[in-house]
Amino acid sequence: MDFYVYNTMSRKKEKFVPVYEGKVGMYTCGPTVYNFAHIGNLRTYIFEDILKKSLRYLGYEVKHVMNITDVGHLQSDADEGEDKMELGAKRENKTVWEIAKFYENAFLDDCKKLNVEIPTVVCRATEHIDDMISLVKRLEEKGYTYISNGNVYYEIDKFENYNKLANLSMEELEAGSRVEVDEHKKNPMDFVLWFTNSKFKNQIMQWDSPWGRGFPGWHLECSAMSMKYLGEKIDIHCGGVDHIPVHHTNEIAQSEGVIGHKWVNYWMHGEFLVLDSGKMSKSKGEFLTVNKLEEKGFDPLIYRYFCLQSRYRKQLLFSFDALKDAETAYKKLKSKVRALIKEVKEDDRVDLERINNYKNKFGEKISDDLNIPNAFTVLWEVIKDNELTSKEKSTLVEDFDKVLSMDLMNEDIEEGLDSNIDSDLVDKLIQERNDARQSKNWAKADEIRDKLNSMNIEILDSKEGTKWKLKK
Ligand code: AMP
Ligand code: ZN
Repeated sequence: MDFYVYNTMSRKKEKFVPVYEGKVGMYTCGPTVYNFAHIGNLRTYIFEDILKKSLRYLGYEVKHVMNITDVGHLQSDADEGEDKMELGAKRENKTVWEIAKFYENAFLDDCKKLNVEIPTVVCRATEHIDDMISLVKRLEEKGYTYISNGNVYYEIDKFENYNKLANLSMEELEAGSRVEVDEHKKNPMDFVLWFTNSKFKNQIMQWDSPWGRGFPGWHLECSAMSMKYLGEKIDIHCGGVDHIPVHHTNEIAQSEGVIGHKWVNYWMHGEFLVLDSGKMSKSKGEFLTVNKLEEKGFDPLIYRYFCLQSRYRKQLLFSFDALKDAETAYKKLKSKVRALIKEVKEDDRVDLERINNYKNKFGEKISDDLNIPNAFTVLWEVIKDNELTSKEKSTLVEDFDKVLSMDLMNEDIEEGLDSNIDSDLVDKLIQERNDARQSKNWAKADEIRDKLNSMNIEILDSKEGTKWKLKK
């Protein structure tokens, strides 16, 4: 089946043709780990997760690479704004390294709760400084750079069609990126590849380089690491729409400047999650996280469900009322699936043709630039189809859930949702038990397990973490 994607580069829906038959190399820009990811960020990771699982459903073998931006001076091109990692370190009285580790783990925990699969390769910027330095050297050899005031700049006028991804005039591009005036630049859109003379003095994260001790500009890591792990021809590169005019535009200038040919075949961008009050932003302080949704009693998967009810290229307006509606719809879906699983009989008919018809229908929806709302419609058609046996239905639901990842076949979550159990309390006890186990306080860990037992809760430890369910 042909897979169609909207390519930001051409502004068209295009048939997907991979570089290597049957394989996909996919790079997605990862989090800056100075704070929790907000639910807007996570909408983008959910979209990328669905993309990967859809490709896999259609038979491709996917290699997915994602960076972790753990060196925080990189957020701005113009050496402006705040140094986010150091800001986080001051805020929490920790070192920048501790901050990075803590929020990387928090991000991976969020992904787990949202059934966002961890990419094949997760690579930290701080562990790839040499790769970044060699990329700057190659750009230097090819004449794309200049040194001014101690910093190495990329000279965008040397790169043909610099604005091709954003498809904006240079004036619009400049206005959109709001660059601070920097008299050391030849063109206001030039950007720093390597800082040795940043406005921010006494940085903790610094490395030696041919240009002096310093740190990389923030676009560099994605060019260096994507090419290291995926080679010089990449099938798909993703991120949020905010990355189009600056970050991805600069990544293209760096990568294609070095390799001298087209680098990425398909650029896919997720639209923003917005609030009534406007954009969700970490710099404004108050922002919604998975933890906050949980505190308000929502299972994180309800947020995943909410995101999947709209197309990734449309802005999505968040409200707790809308999330509540998603919860009702999700519970209804889960209870229908649970009922049909209970009806399955061993000797039910399984007609492969009927199954394949529905699989094809589902495949067509996801192949239409990830039309996930329509894929859910096919799921409902299956559930309501009186011609299908319960076994056929459950086979199809299980199959579709490989893409949707809504735990449809798994009873735990619904039992948790429907019961009178205080799930926050259970989560808190499990956390305390995990802490006790970590500090080898076995007596306390056992005591908490007994307490959970007396609440009729069964806990299941696995290498993915601890899950719980009501005892039957
Ligand atoms: P950051 O950690 O700021 O680099 O952002 C991580 C990812 O989230 C990037 O792909 C951004 O484009 C994306 N992103 C940022 N804000 C939002 C939002 N409100 N809605 C959806 N995606 C977002
Ligand atoms: Zn990136």
